[in-house]
Amino acid sequence: MGSRSEVCLSFSFLALASLISRLISTLETVIGWALMRRTAIFLGIIVVFLSAVNAVFGPAVGAAAWGQTTTPGKSSPDVYLITIDTLRADHVGCYGYKDVETPALDALAADGVRFTEAFTHSPITNTSHITILTGLLPSVHGVTDFGVPLSPQHVTAAELLKKQGYQTAAFIGAVILDSNTLAPGLDRGFDFYDNFPATADTPDATGKNKERWGRVERRAMTVVDDAEAWFDKHRAGPHFVWVHMYDPHDPYEPPSPFLEKYKDHLYDGEIAYADSAVANWIAFLKKAGVYDNAIIIVTGDHGEGLGEHGEDTHGLFLYDSTLHIPLIVKTPGAAHRGAVIDVQVRTTDILPTILSVTGVAAPPELNGESLLPLLDTNAGAAANRELFGETDYPLRWGWAPLRALRADGTKWIEAPRPELYDLQSDPKELKNLYAPATAKVQAMQAEMAKWKAKLPPQSGPSKADESLPDPKDKIGVQNFLHDAMLASDDNRTNDARVFLEKALQLDPNSPSALRQLGELELAAGDFAKAAAHLKRACELRPDDSTATFELGEAMEKSGDFAGARDALESSLKLQPGQMPARLLLGRVYLQLKDAKNAQDQFEAALLVDSNNSEGRLGLAEAQIEQHDFAGALPDLEAFTKADPRNAAGLRLLARAYRGLHREQDAKRAEERAAALEKK
Ligand SMILES: [Zn+2]
Repeated sequence: MGSRSEVCLSFSFLALASLISRLISTLETVIGWALMRRTAIFLGIIVVFLSAVNAVFGPAVGAAAWGQTTTPGKSSPDVYLITIDTLRADHVGCYGYKDVETPALDALAADGVRFTEAFTHSPITNTSHITILTGLLPSVHGVTDFGVPLSPQHVTAAELLKKQGYQTAAFIGAVILDSNTLAPGLDRGFDFYDNFPATADTPDATGKNKERWGRVERRAMTVVDDAEAWFDKHRAGPHFVWVHMYDPHDPYEPPSPFLEKYKDHLYDGEIAYADSAVANWIAFLKKAGVYDNAIIIVTGDHGEGLGEHGEDTHGLFLYDSTLHIPLIVKTPGAAHRGAVIDVQVRTTDILPTILSVTGVAAPPELNGESLLPLLDTNAGAAANRELFGETDYPLRWGWAPLRALRADGTKWIEAPRPELYDLQSDPKELKNLYAPATAKVQAMQAEMAKWKAKLPPQSGPSKADESLPDPKDKIGVQNFLHDAMLASDDNRTNDARVFLEKALQLDPNSPSALRQLGELELAAGDFAKAAAHLKRACELRPDDSTATFELGEAMEKSGDFAGARDALESSLKLQPGQMPARLLLGRVYLQLKDAKNAQDQFEAALLVDSNNSEGRLGLAEAQIEQHDFAGALPDLEAFTKADPRNAAGLRLLARAYRGLHREQDAKRAEERAAALEKK
C-alpha cells in the first residue's frame, strides 16, 4: 500500500504504468496479444522498455534556445522560492486571520508585495509545483498525476537560471516531490536536489522505521537546516534555492510548543510551525547578506478543504477553499515595500516574474505573465487575470475530472452536474446558480473554450468522462479512502480495514476500496478474502493491471492455479513488462504441468533481466519437465557454481544430471543440497 494520503505509491506507479501503456497501445494492437507466443511476449517487453526509456528521458530535445540574453553577474539578484504545502490564504496572519501567529510571513509581506487574490491551477502537490516551476498549466506540462515524468520539452525555472550561472538547489519536505520516485524530472536544472534516501520508504523488520519523519516527510526546520548547510558550502552567488515545507499537509502533527498552543486547531499549529522555519531561513539569508538584493517568493501549492463542501483535505474539488493561496513577493531592494495588490493572479505568473526580475528571456510557451507590471503601474486599473483550474485527481477513483474558470467575479465548474457561483455575493460557493443555457453560463463556457484551445489535444475531459460519477456525489467515500491511506501509512492495519469497509458501505462498487482491501487481506494472509475483493475490483476496472496481478497472486496462494493463470495473463496483456507477474505466471504454468508455456514465460522474463535467479531456475525446471536435460545443464552448472549455497539450484542440477544418466554427479549435487537444507 502507499505511504501517506497523496503518497500512495502503488497508485503512483500505476499512473506511470498507464502512461507507458498508452504510448504502446497502438503497437500492442498490431502485435496481437490474442496470438501470444514467445515472439509476441519478447516484442511486447522490448516495446515497453523503449517506451519507458522514452517517457523518462524523453526525446533529445533540450531547452538550449532559452535564457541566453543576459550575462550573469555578481549583481544578479538571488532567487528564493518558498512553497508551503496545503496553505490556505485565509489562515495566514497578514491575510487577516486572527487565530494563528505568522510573524515571519507578515514581516516578509511588509517588506514586499502581498497578493490578496492569488490562485493555484491545481489542488494537487506535484502538479501544482510543476506549474509553479514551469509556468505552464497542468494539462500543458502533462504532469496531472503522481509519478508522471515531466517531459524534457518543458523548461524549468532551475534550468533557465542555471544557464545564467546561478547555483541551484532544492530542498523538499515530502517524498511526493522526490525526483527518483514520484516526481521524475522535477530535479532538472538543480545542481542539488535533496531527495529522500532510496530505501527509506520501507519500515524495517523491527518496525523501527515506522515513523513518517525522514521516510515520507521532513519537518520544515530540517528542510531549512539542510538548505542552510548547502548554502554555507556554496557561498558564491547568484543563487536559486527552492525550499518546500510540507507541514500543514495532513495529518496535522505540529511539534511542541505548537502542538500544545494550537491543540484545538492543529492545522493552524502546523502553519505557525512552518512560519517559524521561514523565520529561521529569512534570518539566515539576512545574516549571509543576500536578503536585500534577493527576490523572495512565498506561496502555497493549494489550500485545504477543512470540511467545506464535504472535503476534508484537497485534490477532488476546485472550490476556493483549495485554490485560494497566499502569494508574497519581496523584490530586490524591497522596492515595493508594503504593497497590497487585489488583482486576481495565478501561480503560472510566478516563473515569468522571476524571469523578468532576473532579466532572463522567457520561453514563448508560458501560460502566465510577469507580475511586475502590476507593481510598477497603477495596479488598481489592471484587469483580473483569469484562472483556469484543473483536477484529474478524481480519475484515480473512476470519477469525473473537473475544470474550472474563475473570471469576472464568477466561478464556473465544468462537472457532470455543472456549477456556477457569484463570488461577490457568495464567496463560499454555496449557492449553485447553474441553469442550462443562460447567458452567463454561455459566456463562461465560451471563455473556458478559449483556455481549452491553449491545451494540447485530448487533455480536457473527453466525452466518455461525462458518464463518470460526479465527484460531488463521492466525497464521503473519498474521505474514508484518504483516512485508510493514512492508517496504512502508519501501519494501523485494522483502522485501515475499518475505513475501507466504511467506504464500501457508501459505495459498494468502489474499485479503489476493493483493491486496497484486497491488498490489505493479501498482506494479512487471508487469500480467499483477498481474491474475492480483487476479483470485484478487476470486474469494475478491467484495465487495472496491478489489481489483476494481485488477483493472480491471491489465487495462486489459495491454490487456484487455473484462475491465477487467467488473471496473470490478463495483467500481462495490460502491462507486458511486469517482471513479478511474468515469473509468477511461469511458476503457475509449472503447477499446471504446462512446461512449454512455463518456458515461454521464463525466457521472456530473462529477456528483461538475463541474470534473474528465479527466471533462470524456472527456465531450467521447465526444460527438465520437457526432458531437455542437456538444454538445462549448462546454465544450472554456471548458476550453482556462482551460487553454491542455493539448494533449489542444486536439486535441479541433480535432476538434470540424472536425466543425462550421470548418477554420480546427481548424487553429489543431492548431498550438497541436503546438507544446505538441514541448516
Ligand atoms: Zn500539496
